[in-house]
Amino acid sequence: LREDKMLLRVDRSVCIGSGNCVRLASAIFDQDEDEGLVVLRVEEPPAEWEKVVRTAVATCPTAAISIVDAPQ
Ligand code: SF4
Repeated sequence: LREDKMLLRVDRSVCIGSGNCVRLASAIFDQDEDEGLVVLRVEEPPAEWEKVVRTAVATCPTAAISIVDAPQ
């Protein structure tokens, strides 16, 4: 992983389509049109998104978003 990137994963099997993550960071997260479940638009976002992504992780009602790796 590059120093200026984070690595994210989403688990669509637990997402309930609340849309919190999309409202927080629509550049990173989207929802599919059929089921409204999360779609990761950017798997390795720039590290400058870390604060917003951590808020998305913390406010996702089903813990569907994971930070796999982030710069130390
Ligand atoms: S906040 Fe969580 S449950 Fe809601 S759409 Fe995003 S990933 Fe799915």
